[in-house]
Amino acid sequence: MQIKTAARLGLLPPYLFAELDRLKKEVAASGVDVISLGIGDPDLPTPQHIVASLARAAALPQNHRYPDYEGLASYRQAAADWFRRRFGISFDPAREVCALIGSKEGIANFATAIVDPGDIVLIPDPGYPVYYSGCVFNGGEPYFLTLRKDAGFTPDFAAIPDEIARRAKLLWLNYPNNPTGATVDAAFFEHAARFCLKNNIVLAHDSAYSEIAYDGYRAPSVFDAPGARECAIEFHSLSKTFSMTGWRCGFAIGNPDLIAALGRVKTNVDSGVFQGIQEAAITALEGGDGDKLAEYCAIYKQRRDLLVPALREMGLGCALPRATFYVWAQVPNGYSSVSFTERVLKEAGVVITPGSGFGKGGEGFVRFSLTVSSERLREAVSRMKALRL
Ligand SMILES: *Cc1c(COP(=O)(O)O)cnc(C)c1O
Repeated sequence: MQIKTAARLGLLPPYLFAELDRLKKEVAASGVDVISLGIGDPDLPTPQHIVASLARAAALPQNHRYPDYEGLASYRQAAADWFRRRFGISFDPAREVCALIGSKEGIANFATAIVDPGDIVLIPDPGYPVYYSGCVFNGGEPYFLTLRKDAGFTPDFAAIPDEIARRAKLLWLNYPNNPTGATVDAAFFEHAARFCLKNNIVLAHDSAYSEIAYDGYRAPSVFDAPGARECAIEFHSLSKTFSMTGWRCGFAIGNPDLIAALGRVKTNVDSGVFQGIQEAAITALEGGDGDKLAEYCAIYKQRRDLLVPALREMGLGCALPRATFYVWAQVPNGYSSVSFTERVLKEAGVVITPGSGFGKGGEGFVRFSLTVSSERLREAVSRMKALRL
């Protein structure tokens, strides 16, 4: 029989990385020791006391059954407590927090809870691809907000036409930002919340990198903005903060009607986070590992301070990121994002990510991940320097 898939699959962008994946295999097969600065996945292990907590919890039969959809009351309490300690803002764990199977799940399902066919979704460009796929899977129309370097990679709300703002239902923001490494202060969220309240737009903030920060920078929450409780939801993840990407655990926090809407979608498509992982996540959120987080950030910072000056010497313009483990650099004259990425892969055996993979607005840039050891990073730098860019 002829398989006919849903038309929505055709709305996904062509897979930009197919040719790069092929090239990566070819380079590795030729015997080159490929160094990957391509993916945003911590190389540093989950702290041991969190692993031990899972091992204990996994042994208990009561954790082997279906979990509660919205998450253990104790997990939601731990999330609300962590949030209050971190941002000084209180939420009711029963009505204003929802456990997620990683924040990517929540981001995708939240679009289903909010977006009707024909609704406009305001999406940062470049940006995390799930904002777009969540939009088009639900029949929404993406309207891209270009993040320009001269605006510190933040969107210009004043430049959004009135008629677009009127039809928009949902705005996605993400600071500290992937892929640009940009950060904002609380005043930015005040602008965003004012814009959303004025135009009746739901404000969704993806806060995956809030704890990966340097030089004393403390990322604000969207809820630092007055009025944000009326219109906003914030997505938090244990993935980057506690080096737990493979565990799949996060939470959404914010306006109770938005949390309830997300919960209604989730009860119909998933069955919650394994309770053993929630128990380990409670251990993570309760801290006691404050030193481990500081230690990990110090390691990323050391790598950042090694890579950024080297890239600048090579003529790749880039800012020193105050947060995230990414360095977002301009490609040298004469290259596109992809042609530069290909040359670095072919001739230096180093994998980086072309900015255009995050949207048109990323053209002219490449992203370096700080998720390999300083030794490997030094080796990558010396190979790239030998290219005489
Ligand atoms: C890593 C990442 C996430 C998702 O992380 P989960 O592992 O699904 O919690 C969400 N947003 C951005 C921007 C990310 O980089």
